[in-house]
Formats: sequence, C-alpha cells, structure tokens
Amino acid sequence: MFTLLFVFLLLLGVALRLWLSTRQTRHVVRHRGDVPAEFAGRIGLHSHARAADYTVARVRFDMFAVVFDAVVLLALTLLGGLQALDVLASRLVDGDFARQLVLIALVSGVLGLLGLPFTLWRQFRLEARFGFNRMTWRLFVADAIKGLVLSVALGLPLVAAILWLMGTAGPLWWLWAWGVWMVFNVTLLLLFPTVIAPMFNSFTPLADDTLVDRIDRLATRCGFSLNGLFVMDGSKRSAHGNAYFTGFGKGKRIVFFDTLLARLLPEEIEAVLAHELGHFTHRHILKRLVFSFALTLAGFALLGWLSSKVWFYTGLGVEPSLTGSNSALALILFFLVAPVFSFPFTPLGSWYSRKHEFEADRYATEHANANDLVSALVKLYDDNAATLTPDPVHSAFYDSHPPASVRIRRLIDHGAASPLAHGAIPTPESA
Ligand SMILES: [Zn+2]
Repeated sequence: MFTLLFVFLLLLGVALRLWLSTRQTRHVVRHRGDVPAEFAGRIGLHSHARAADYTVARVRFDMFAVVFDAVVLLALTLLGGLQALDVLASRLVDGDFARQLVLIALVSGVLGLLGLPFTLWRQFRLEARFGFNRMTWRLFVADAIKGLVLSVALGLPLVAAILWLMGTAGPLWWLWAWGVWMVFNVTLLLLFPTVIAPMFNSFTPLADDTLVDRIDRLATRCGFSLNGLFVMDGSKRSAHGNAYFTGFGKGKRIVFFDTLLARLLPEEIEAVLAHELGHFTHRHILKRLVFSFALTLAGFALLGWLSSKVWFYTGLGVEPSLTGSNSALALILFFLVAPVFSFPFTPLGSWYSRKHEFEADRYATEHANANDLVSALVKLYDDNAATLTPDPVHSAFYDSHPPASVRIRRLIDHGAASPLAHGAIPTPESA
C-alpha cells in the first residue's frame, strides 16, 4: 500500500511539474513578440525576447532535471540502491555507529556527484549563453572545496548527534533531535553573515557618502537602526543583481550586490531598501523562521513514528536490519521521500511568500517613492532577464514573488495615492 502511494505521488508530482513547465513555455513563447502594456516604452522588444528565451531555456533544462531526479529516487529506493550502499557501508567499516555515518556519507556523495553535471551545465552553459556567468573554473573548484569542507565540518557533528539520540534517547528521541536541529540552525543563522558568507565573498562597508546619507534618512523615517551597510562582490560569480537582509539583533545588516549598485540610481536603491525594511517591520523573516521550526517539529515527530514501522522500510525497497540500528536508513529514506509528499503543498508556501512581497511593496510606497521602486524593478527584470509574461498557473504554483505586471500595477495604484509620489513614471533613460 505504502509503495503504491509513494509511486503514485511521485508520478503525479513529475506529471504536474512537466505540465506546469509546458504551460510556462507555451505562455512565454506566445507573448515573446509583444511587451506588456505596463512595460511598453520601458523595456525594449529585444530585451523582452531575450528574457523569453532565457526563461524557456531554464524551464526545459529543469524538465530534464525533474525526470532525472525521479529516476535517481526510484533507483535508490525501490530498485535497491540504498540497500546496496548499506551493504557496502557495512563492508567498509566495523561497528554499527560508524556504518551508519559512512552510509549517510555515501548517499550524500552519490547525490552530490549525480547533481554535479547539472550544476556545471547550468553555470557554464545556460547562464553563460545569456551572458550571466562570471564564474571561472578556478573559482568553481574553490567554491566546491570550501562547500565540501563546510558541509563535513558542520553536517557530520549534526548527523552524528541525531543518530546518537535516535539510538539512546528513548521513544521521545525526535523531540531532542528537534532541539539539536533548532540550536544548530539558529547558530548557523547567527554565524552566516560574519563567518560563513565572508568565506565565499568579500564584504566592504558602503563607501558612497551621499547614498549612506540617503539611506540613513530613510532608516530614521522608518524608525529603524541600521548596524551595517555592505557591498558584496556578487559580480565575481554572476551578473544577476540583488539585495538582502541578514542577521539578527546587533548583527543585522543590509547587503547590496555590487551588480545592483552599479545599475540603480540612489533614489531607486532607497526604494528597494524601503521594500526590505518593509519585510523587517512586518517581521516576515521571523514569521517564516517560526513556521519552519514548527514544520520541522512535525517532521521529526513523523520520522519518530515512521522509523519504528517495518513497512516504512520495506515499502521503500529496504530491508531493515534485525541486529543493527536502522536510524541512518530511516533518516535517509525520510529526507529522500518527504519532498514527494510535500510537493502538492508548494502553492501554499508560494502564496504566503507573495503575500509578504505585497506587504513589503506597500510599506515601500508609504516610506519611499513608489515610482522609484517601479523603475528599480523594471531595471532588475530587464537585467536579470526575468520574464514579464509568466503563465498564471505556473506563477501561482511556484513563484515567491508576484508576477511582474501585477506587482507593477499595484505599485502604480498605491503610488498614485501616496503623498510621496510625484510626476510620471520615469523611464530608465530619463530617470
Ligand atoms: Zn521582497
């Protein structure tokens, strides 16, 4: 029964993904030749067509990846891949605990190696074809080594702690494991801006005095104390631009990609920042964090229950050991299979995220100029070759941000009513 449910949901998920991708491709291709009215005069036909081509190329690539991932999942579970790796692990090392750690390392290694060609193709073919790749091979290898060292240094102790709890902490092990997971994640969040991110990029304080001044005034207006404005050398990997908020309490900082600063005018940067402050004021980051912790608790509780059921293993193509511990098998199976069961809920998460984006946009129109945010967004859509004409169903299912046209229309509506708004919407050339 469980096997049938798993296979059914896996196939349903693949079919749904492919159907959505096909819809997206068709919709984008159909609108390739005409720029939507909201963007007429601000985005040229050439840029619009390029965005369409980029979107279609990425969707087609993802369709291939979806099928490949499903085959890998079936190979590891029902076709006996995980069982074979477990046998291999028990031949490589003695001792139950070591065998389990080796098994997890083997599965991570196999998944990492299988994903590598996709990462390489995406970066050096797809992104390069549209002029976005700035990554050199040297940097790619350096990143990969750092990432591997980091995941071993951080992941191994975490996995070992959870396995140990599963074996020794009794029936409520999952509650303890959740506690360890929480502490680990909060620590990671605290360390990310100051320890982990600087291992991959350099961060310099924003040096432009007039811009700093402008941002300070915005922050005061919003009743917000900023602890740091940094510029990140995002251009060494990609031409895509971005800005983000990171850290908590005293460690919170705003990070601008150098690619973003190079393209936007000071008033546009202010508007983008007002949007970010909107996320902060509405406590979106905190809400998402609390939500994800609650979801993880439910996940661990579920794993606690499943790991004691023989059908959970046999139903997924693995024979649980009668003498040794099955903790590692349970963990791996759960992490492999959980996305199959959670995929149908994707639209809920996307909807929640879009709701937050609208709230942050609303906040930006109240504390900065809506027209500046519009022109900043237009530049960003243009530079990132983000499609202006996504398929509505595909967008509702996946997109964390509202479709370009809907977002711009709302901004213009609010902006017209905002006391800060003035004049017509500037074109990127005249702004
Ligand atoms: Zn946002």
